[in-house]
Amino acid sequence: MNIAANNPELKSWVNVPEDSHFPIQNLPFGIFKTKYLNPGACVAIGNKVLDLTYLNNNGFLDDLGLPQGLFNQASLNDFFRLGKKRVREVRNKVSNLLRHDNPELRNNSIAVEMALIDMKEVEMLLPVYVQNYTDFYSSIEHATNVGIMFRDPANALLPNWKHLPVGYHGRASSIVVSGTPVIRPKGQTKAPDQEMPVFGPTKRLDFELEMAFITCGDTVQGESVTVADAEDMIVGMVLFNDWSARDVQVWEYVPLGPFLAKNFSSSVSPWVVTLDALEPFRVQGPVQDPPVLPYLQFKGKRNFDIQLSAAIQPEKGPNTVISNTNFKHMYWNMAQQLAHHSVNGCNIETGDMYASGTISGPTPDSYGSMLELAWKGTKPIKLADGSERIFINDHDEVIISGYAQHAKYKIGFGEVRSKILPATK
Ligand code: CA
Repeated sequence: MNIAANNPELKSWVNVPEDSHFPIQNLPFGIFKTKYLNPGACVAIGNKVLDLTYLNNNGFLDDLGLPQGLFNQASLNDFFRLGKKRVREVRNKVSNLLRHDNPELRNNSIAVEMALIDMKEVEMLLPVYVQNYTDFYSSIEHATNVGIMFRDPANALLPNWKHLPVGYHGRASSIVVSGTPVIRPKGQTKAPDQEMPVFGPTKRLDFELEMAFITCGDTVQGESVTVADAEDMIVGMVLFNDWSARDVQVWEYVPLGPFLAKNFSSSVSPWVVTLDALEPFRVQGPVQDPPVLPYLQFKGKRNFDIQLSAAIQPEKGPNTVISNTNFKHMYWNMAQQLAHHSVNGCNIETGDMYASGTISGPTPDSYGSMLELAWKGTKPIKLADGSERIFINDHDEVIISGYAQHAKYKIGFGEVRSKILPATK
């Protein structure tokens, strides 16, 4: 697919620092506010945000014929509901306005002053109103590790795992944007050597390094989305930290699966990086053997080469990168996940979030959770300040970052950063 905004030769008149996550080839969408401006939609370019409400109100986007007030909102849902083609038109138009040889916006000093705002002066908000959140379990390395730790090393994967993308319905109301503190949850736990459960703050708070895709457009209940059409409904992706209380999880999850161990919070990065911008980074996923049923079969490259990392920043002292992994390892791809999700007629809505499940790579330094990195508490992780972790402590900040690397630029996601606060009394 030829997408004008992806041209690697493009340069912007806005200064983009070397190594920036946000060159002109990216142009992710987000929701921002400032001391003076109500929440509205914007695009990232270098260290600036470009105010889409200003551009739409002042004629710069007139040839697109967009609805009035489309961007002057606290979520991107109405924009994304217009569909992937319209989102692509807006991204191409913004790219055109930002290219170094187009004077239209560049030479309009009032417009530049009004529409281009330093990232330091803005607060980024949750990019979409999340109506529905689903969490998959699609990394074969993660599912195998968890199976070895909690069940049977000889039969680590359950019989269904290679036949369908396992998932569950998560909680949408507690999804928060990067920078929002997370309070250590309390819950019910039972140690294996105790007869009765106890109640208190989790002692095994964990992160899960994931990515999530966001849908654009709605289907009618009873309809299904095919694998071939699924990407037409996937507008873009964010980084996703699916917080987990492991001691609560292991006690509560039988027989219906995750509940309070998961629903207290998940944290997301604020920029929706479009699937269009990720187009040059398609790769072939792992071979699926045994072959999947026809409704899950796909053609072409459906995985994406996105480098991911997780770091812990203690209250004092430097941060330590504790994991480096890659989205390309996922056994089940996003098109298969969406096709499977809707194959029974479940309706898809604009702004839904679909998380990948923990993204673990093949080596121990590429695991996507403390549970695996410290192997159920048996192999403590040493931080740069000399302290050790088997799970996440109060006042630790967990930072997940990611980007796709092109020879000439990075398509970055920024980061999702969250500090853990002590449990409430
Ligand atoms: Ca998860």
